[in-house]
Amino acid sequence: MITDDALAVFRKEFGTEPTGLWAAPGRVNLIGEHTDYNEGFVLPFALPQRTIAAVGPAPAGEWTVCSTFADEAVSFGLTEPGEVTGWAAYVAGVVWALHDAGYQVPGARIALASEVPLGSGLSSSAALESSVLTALVDLGGLDLPLEKRPAVAQRAENVYVGAPTGILDQSASIRCQEGRALFLDCRSYEVEQIPFDLAAEGLAILVINSNAPHQHVDGEYGARRKSCEDAARLLGVPALRDITGAELDDALSRLDDEVMRRRVRHIVTEDDRVLATVKLLHAGQVREIGPLLTASHVSMRDDFEITVAQVDLAVETALEVGAYGARMTGGGFGGCVLALIDADKADVVTTAVEEAYAKAGFTPPTAWTVTAGPGAGKL
Ligand code: ADP
Ligand code: MG
Repeated sequence: MITDDALAVFRKEFGTEPTGLWAAPGRVNLIGEHTDYNEGFVLPFALPQRTIAAVGPAPAGEWTVCSTFADEAVSFGLTEPGEVTGWAAYVAGVVWALHDAGYQVPGARIALASEVPLGSGLSSSAALESSVLTALVDLGGLDLPLEKRPAVAQRAENVYVGAPTGILDQSASIRCQEGRALFLDCRSYEVEQIPFDLAAEGLAILVINSNAPHQHVDGEYGARRKSCEDAARLLGVPALRDITGAELDDALSRLDDEVMRRRVRHIVTEDDRVLATVKLLHAGQVREIGPLLTASHVSMRDDFEITVAQVDLAVETALEVGAYGARMTGGGFGGCVLALIDADKADVVTTAVEEAYAKAGFTPPTAWTVTAGPGAGKL
């Protein structure tokens, strides 16, 4: 049990019991990829896989953090971005971001354990930040409403760790609810909890970790982001979210650069696909979202160019053996694929993908079915 792991590490490192355990989930983004930093729409749900933070008090201005994934504990006081590096930067970043937002952050001893695979696009980083943030807010009795927490955790990752990610991951980990997908407007931060009960429909989401090595992720992510921001500037809009599907052709005709045109087409059509997905889910037409998921993948593959051979093969194979739809989920360049399937087809699809990978000479994939779990909180 992951909670036992966190407790064991806490006891071993600090020789005492923690005040409590806090959990925050990883996430799968059902649809809406790279739309978050374009101030558009996303639709994630929380994974049952979580990061657990066992947390107890420490003297004011002192933090010590350890993890099942690290050999040594790391201690720090109030720091500025860049001072703590490596995995502990995510924790120091949360402390820094809370302090920078004007909060009196309580000193703490923190032990982390996680069942979210690290670096697979399921957002172990946001799960870590969100579990620690929620614990510190609770322990310190800080007056930080739920809807404002994701932006604080995001600053930890953007400014302290230096990863230019959007608001999607932290929002999902903090604001998702069990049995729901989170429809988030990344401009207003308004959310709507969308019914997402797959079991009731005899359906499941199969997550397939491509186990492809992540390469050039940060550089490519930054390049996509810059291309989108440059396009918005050229088109005279605050963000690409402001271009509707109906305005797309006109917008494309005003851009000279072919690569930039493709980037814009992905974002604008992806926002529309999120809206269409929400509409179908509201109408209880869950199977019918399949073609939208697949269209999203094609758009990421051909227009946004963020997929790799392993994820393309997983999507193609899942569709060949009867998935209603399939797409890469997460920032790209490896990571995971999700497939919407009949619940009793998980083994068939998994085997087919395993066989296709073996034939292609790829590292074997890992696959499991998931349901929409709860967001961050105290256990
Ligand atoms: P993802 O968020 O897709 O899993 P990232 O590269 O954004 O991938 O974040 C992974 C990094 O987050 C790890 O390399 C590590 O530094 C840190 N991390 C996440 N979870 C833990 C954990 N439980 N213990 C220590 N570090 C962690
Ligand atoms: Mg991450």
